[in-house]
Amino acid sequence: MKTYDVLIIGAGPAGMTAAIYAIRANMSVLMIDKLSPGGQMVNTNEIENYTGSGSVNGAELSMQMFEHTQELGVEFDYKTVLDIVDNGETKTVICEEDDARFETRTIIIATGTVPRRLNVAGEDNFAGTGISWCAICDGAQYRDKNVVVIGGGNSAVEESIYLAGITSSLTIVTMFDLTADPKACDQLRAMDNVTIHPYQDVLEFTGEGSLDGVRFKSTKEDATEHHVKCDGVFEYIGLMPTSESFKHLGILNDFGFIEVDDEMNSSVKGIYGAGDITSKKLRQIITACSDGAIAANSAAKYVESLKG
Ligand SMILES: Cc1cc2nc3c(=O)[nH]c(=O)nc-3n(C[C@H](O)[C@H](O)[C@H](O)COP(=O)(O)OP(=O)(O)OC[C@H]3O[C@@H](n4cnc5c(N)ncnc54)[C@H](O)[C@@H]3O)c2cc1C
Repeated sequence: MKTYDVLIIGAGPAGMTAAIYAIRANMSVLMIDKLSPGGQMVNTNEIENYTGSGSVNGAELSMQMFEHTQELGVEFDYKTVLDIVDNGETKTVICEEDDARFETRTIIIATGTVPRRLNVAGEDNFAGTGISWCAICDGAQYRDKNVVVIGGGNSAVEESIYLAGITSSLTIVTMFDLTADPKACDQLRAMDNVTIHPYQDVLEFTGEGSLDGVRFKSTKEDATEHHVKCDGVFEYIGLMPTSESFKHLGILNDFGFIEVDDEMNSSVKGIYGAGDITSKKLRQIITACSDGAIAANSAAKYVESLKG
């Protein structure tokens, strides 16, 4: 069986950039994804902060990045990785489909995250159109419009401060009270166009064809119901790392993200993390690409050292 120099799990921006750097470092590369290449970019309508691209559709940028990998000769396979076995200088990657197995000297894990969802009525209908998980990315669409933010933690509050600055009205609906840093909470509360509804359960996203509001109910004894009209909703109830398959390697922190150093090394030699799956502050396309480049560079140096 062929032993690859590097096997990349996940073909989002982190994985695809890692693939470009790895193949240009003369390594044999296999990139695997369970879905179409692009990761979260595929479902992003407008990307406006990727350097040099102006405003670009997410699916289009995904295709451009993927074509770049293909022009350089990166092997790609549609597979779902279930397990990694660390044999020391080689590793075995086991996939769901037909129990497929691949041998490799190094692995770059770039499996990203999935936003935690509320799983309430209407959510699937409006996901990606009226409901977003990224204010930096989609907030500008709601300039001078009415927006609801779900959540009360740091992300929710910080993104709400940004959104409240550009929208006409911002309503926060949260299960508890605001739990973010007090200074940020004070700043948000002081904004004129912000209304906060603490201790609420979201019941439903409403609208015929397009989103027009959110229905929620107090968790207090009175259980009062509200229906707030809005043009858009941002959900910030947490991110879930796609890392279940890598738990046994001992490379995850308490929240399930891969702990890496500045060179993207995990605690297992020859295994690297890149992109949103790693423990980091800013989860964006550009930072995912940067991680991918660094991880590939580290993998190349390690492979070189193995080959003597
Ligand atoms: C709605 C939305 C809008 C956004 N807009 C912007 C924006 O405008 N600008 C910006 O910079 N950032 C934006 N972001 C953030 C950005 O998309 C992410 O930071 C970036 O995609 C992370 O890249 P990644 O490669 O680390 O992971 P991902 O893009 O999440 O890619 C991970 C890939 O791994 C694959 N995978 C996962 N598990 C497995 C497995 N077991 N086996 C095989 N494959 C697997 C997945 O299918 C996926 O393709 C947005 C995010 C969202 C959700």
